[in-house]
Formats: sequence, C-alpha cells, structure tokens
Amino acid sequence: MSGTEQKVALVTGAARGIGLATAQLMAEDGWRIALLDRDEPALKEAAANFKGEAISLLHDVSDPQAAPQAIRETLNAFGRIDALVNNAGVADFGPIEETDFTRWRTVMETNLDGVFLMSQAAIPALKETKGAIVNIASISGLRASTLRVAYGTSKAAVIQLTRQQAAELGEYGIRANAVCPGPVRTKLAMAVHTQDIIDAYHDAIPLNRYGSEREIGEVVAFLCGPKASYVTGQIIAADGGFESTGVGLP
Ligand code: NAD
Repeated sequence: MSGTEQKVALVTGAARGIGLATAQLMAEDGWRIALLDRDEPALKEAAANFKGEAISLLHDVSDPQAAPQAIRETLNAFGRIDALVNNAGVADFGPIEETDFTRWRTVMETNLDGVFLMSQAAIPALKETKGAIVNIASISGLRASTLRVAYGTSKAAVIQLTRQQAAELGEYGIRANAVCPGPVRTKLAMAVHTQDIIDAYHDAIPLNRYGSEREIGEVVAFLCGPKASYVTGQIIAADGGFESTGVGLP
C-alpha cells in the first residue's frame, strides 16, 4: 500500500496505554494513524515518539462537537478512514451506594457517549471504505463485580452498542466488533488495582498473568484488517482465559 491507498485508522485514547500500543502496531503494519486524545502533553509526547505516519487530534470524545470535527480533520489529512478504534476510556471503582451521580455520568460520558458519538460521526466515511469499528469494552462488561457499577455498566452497554452497529451497518459493508481486555498494567488499571486485586487476578486468570498493551493491540489490528473480513458483531475477550473460567472478579 502506498499514498492515498494506504489505509487510515482513527484511534481514540491514543496518547498512552492500549490505544498507543494499538496505534503503533497498526502503523508498523502500514496504516496511517489519527491519534486522538484529550491529554495534550501525553499526546504531544506520543506523537513525538511515534514511528509511522500520524496526525494528532486534541479532542475529548465526550464532547458532542468533537466527533464531527475529528472526522473532518482526519479526512482533510488523509482523505479516507478505514477503521475507527474507540479505545478512550476512564475507570471508576465503586459499589452502587458509594457512586454518586457525577461519578456515574463521568464514566458514561467517555466510555459510552464517546463511542456513540465517534461512531455516528465516522459512519459516512466508513461507508466509503467498507471500513471497521472496533470498540474497546472490558471483561468488566461481561461479568458483574461488587466494585464496578459505573465502569462495568458502561462496558456492557458498549458491548450491546457493538452488536447494534454490526446489525445496522452490515448492509454498507461496515463491520463492528468489540474487544474485552483482561487486566493490563496501564495507568488506568494501576490507579485502582491494589496488590490484593493483582494477586486475585493472577489466581483467577488461567494464564496467571496480566496482558500487555500489544497483546490487546494485536487483536484490535486483526479485527480492523482484511483478515477479519467476515467477522462482525463479535465480542472477543483477550483476557488470558479469565472470562471462560467462571471465577469471580476480584
Ligand atoms: P489509559 O488510561 O492508559 O489510556 C486511556 C487514554 O484515553 C488516555 O490517554 C486518556 O487521556 C484517554 N482518554 C480518556 N478519556 C478520554 C476522553 N474523554 N477523550 C479523549 N481521550 C480520553 O488506559 P488503558 O488501560 O490503555 O485503557 C484503554 C481502554 O481499555 C479503555 O477503554 C479501558 O476501559 C479499556 N480496558 C483497560 C483495561 C486495563 O486493565 N488496562 C482492561 C479492560 C479494558
């Protein structure tokens, strides 16, 4: 692939963690990348160290004005969008009685509204390329736990939104899938994972370890690319086997 034929992916939450690893991996596979994040210093640092062709988009996915603007900026720079990776997310650890409405809304605005808004704005461009949407959900959207009322509910909603997208957009050749990562040692996770939680995860995960950012990115890249051309509406856990075991979330 070269020039205008080279595929383009817009990755949200791309300044660090799973989003940055995914973007870097896809760039190594020949994709041109739009790195979107709301954290300006982190985005600048990510762009400065990025290996490959990329633009930076400083936006907050929970802002309804941001999505159409981000899509326009990507099309202006690259002329096409072949994949949208809705990865931006925030974590919140708290049971229902301790989660006030502000915390609940903060989680929903990024984790759910952001996916809705970005996907909706990207649809016309994705119709042109018969492109793909990959939503980053979580094992917390597959299983309930006593600590994740807002986060888990937001991710369960993203899983259903993915199925809706697959059902509605298949007629345009657009595929939509979700990846549910298990625990990965990113800033998001390590802000809430105590040593007890880390130990419990190691015990509960058949592979006995956390995943890496790139291990998640590989699954996302597969789902974005032509090798997954007949895969849509799927919810794929990349979690070391956690979801399949029936052992409860710590
Ligand atoms: P991270 O905190 O390292 O990175 C998240 C990035 O998203 C940051 O750069 C942050 O600035 C950006 N971001 C957050 N809210 C945003 C917004 N409203 N608009 C634009 N950018 C925003 O976290 P991570 O662990 O890499 O998480 C990436 C995704 O993976 C999230 O959706 C998260 O829920 C999911 N996930 C992570 C884990 C884990 O253990 N790390 C497990 C399951 C799912």
